[in-house]
Amino acid sequence: MNILITGGAGYIGSHVLKSFLKEGGHKITVIDNLSKGSIAAIHAIKSIGEFEFININLEDDLTKIFYNGKFEAVIHLAAFIEVLESTREPLKYYLNNTANVARILTYCKKFGVNKFIFSSTAAVYGEADTPEVSELSPTNPINPYGHSKLMSEQIIKDYASSNSSFKFAILRYFNVAGADEEGLIGQNYPNATHLIKVATQTALGKLENMKIFGNDYATKDGTCVRDYMHVNDLADAHLAALKYIDSNSSEIFNVGYGYGFSVKSVIEATKRVSGVDFKVINSSRRDGDPVALISNANKLRKLTGWTPKRDSLEFIIKTALEWEKRA
Ligand code: UDP
Repeated sequence: MNILITGGAGYIGSHVLKSFLKEGGHKITVIDNLSKGSIAAIHAIKSIGEFEFININLEDDLTKIFYNGKFEAVIHLAAFIEVLESTREPLKYYLNNTANVARILTYCKKFGVNKFIFSSTAAVYGEADTPEVSELSPTNPINPYGHSKLMSEQIIKDYASSNSSFKFAILRYFNVAGADEEGLIGQNYPNATHLIKVATQTALGKLENMKIFGNDYATKDGTCVRDYMHVNDLADAHLAALKYIDSNSSEIFNVGYGYGFSVKSVIEATKRVSGVDFKVINSSRRDGDPVALISNANKLRKLTGWTPKRDSLEFIIKTALEWEKRA
């Protein structure tokens, strides 16, 4: 299939790109402005297979790229992803994560691209009534990041209603972590804020200590609970979703493992796996954090046949540590 991947130099994008190249049989174009993405990742993936890389902004004129690419599918991953930053700079999130979805879809409309895979997030659920959420659970984001993605979901659904040939899969990612198990790529961008990244950097002495943002939540140990999944399993979900919509209807899928781990238990596991007893400081709650988010991802497994192959917290942390040692 002729495929455009936006954000393909990013952490998730580079793993998705690798999965599609490994599968083979696709002609892939990647666009990324390298604001968060890594040219090193692009170079590393060249060893897996051929693809075209174009350094360009989503706001730039993409006419030539769409015209030349003759794309059958767009996998739209380019976005900002930090909850706290989104509370401080909401407009930046609405422009990049929401307005740009309408722009990309406008190109899809003009050039007849009728398959669309979109990276959404568990943050669309917000403070859920139950820790485990399915695709039918109410959506109620509690931060601009979640809102920016939920609005994009609406834009995609509205466009699909206006064009019966257009099919989409919206993937609501839970917490993505770890690095490519073959060691080719990992999370590259500096000043990353995600828990497993920060914990592994602290274990390796790249940071002096780390903070727990809130230990007074209504959970077993007082810290927030999340569903952490390995980035290669998430990447494979994109393959499964595209195959699915190729011969079935548009769908929204949760992508996660369905197990919840508290911040404290992730830190303990990182200490165990690394063998380092690093310094952890109890700090105040971080704006925009829901107390618990765990996926019910049965729909993805049932409809597409996707099955996770790396669903162990220790394995996620081990690959993150190995990557971080070399980064
Ligand atoms: N967290 C923390 N210390 C850190 C980074 C994250 O306590 O240095 C907590 C954060 O408050 C949240 C959980 O870890 O409860 C997961 O946060 P992360 O940023 O990894 O992902 P998010 O769920 O916000 O997308």
